[in-house]
Amino acid sequence: MAMVSHLHPLFNPETCQAYLHRWRWKDRPLQCPRCQSHHGGPWGTYHAQPGLQRSRCKEQGCKRTFHDLTGTLLDGSKRSVMHWVLATFLLCLSCSSRRIAREVGVPIRTGYRWCWWLRHAALSYERHRQLAGTVEADALYHTAGSKGQAPGGGTKALGRRARGRRKKREPGRGHYDKDRPAIIAWVSRQGAVVIQATRDCTVKTVQKAADLAVHAGRRLSTDSASSYRARKGYVHAFVNHTQKEYARGDVHEHRAECLFAWLKPYLRVFRGISKTTLPGSVGFFPCLRNFHQLTACEQAEMILYAALDPAIASRARQGNFVTCLGHFNLRQTARN
Ligand SMILES: [Zn+2]
Repeated sequence: MAMVSHLHPLFNPETCQAYLHRWRWKDRPLQCPRCQSHHGGPWGTYHAQPGLQRSRCKEQGCKRTFHDLTGTLLDGSKRSVMHWVLATFLLCLSCSSRRIAREVGVPIRTGYRWCWWLRHAALSYERHRQLAGTVEADALYHTAGSKGQAPGGGTKALGRRARGRRKKREPGRGHYDKDRPAIIAWVSRQGAVVIQATRDCTVKTVQKAADLAVHAGRRLSTDSASSYRARKGYVHAFVNHTQKEYARGDVHEHRAECLFAWLKPYLRVFRGISKTTLPGSVGFFPCLRNFHQLTACEQAEMILYAALDPAIASRARQGNFVTCLGHFNLRQTARN
């Protein structure tokens, strides 16, 4: 039985609509989503959807009606807004899309699509984040194959035993083509974090990643990997792990290593992850970390606020925020 039916008496459609109405127009003037005109006003309600406010554009040549959800991520959904509010809340508790689908009572494919959209809407908050202060960096290679990427769609007949690739991976650096793309973490000692999923961890990639994530001229504290040492434009200090040196005064990367200890259990929930969708899933993690002082309910409010902006919603549907966050090469290669 769907979770929403249990919560129904506590959590009714009218309250949810009123709540979404408040967030839709909070700090945003009433605007027509089609012609962007501010010249509009209330125009009744809908009988089938109690609480949904209808408005009409008064601009000559437009004169069309719209409501609170027109152009947003929730627009055109056959499920009620209660389902969406609950799904966003569960997403902030870092549940997998299958778990969310089961709890909310929607098909797995719907759950997957909603999570994908909502995660991308959350990424809009990380768009302009550049770290200041002393920044620690570290890289991780994560096993990610072609999960759910069966040609032609549908379920893929496995026809074999599970490969157990975690146990078999070769030592040394990973690469996208070897099904082990890199994840680079940048952690400021002031608290903010940036995580990027990349193809590899070469000098060129790391330089590009650093330019996006860190303000020029800041102090960087890393391990002795050659890709960090070749970086230009930063004051760089490193510790040599091969000589068992883990900290020298205030030169260390404990925070970055510690962040991976949080990232790994977060990724484990997905039970294996595709390299195509890795940037979206990894990219959502810094959103949760950077706002960890908020409760899951407050984080869900933030994500819904972004999802209710038509400009963000259209970009989130296409996964645009991933590319502008510097998760370069992963998606482009997947398409080719
Ligand atoms: Zn209009």
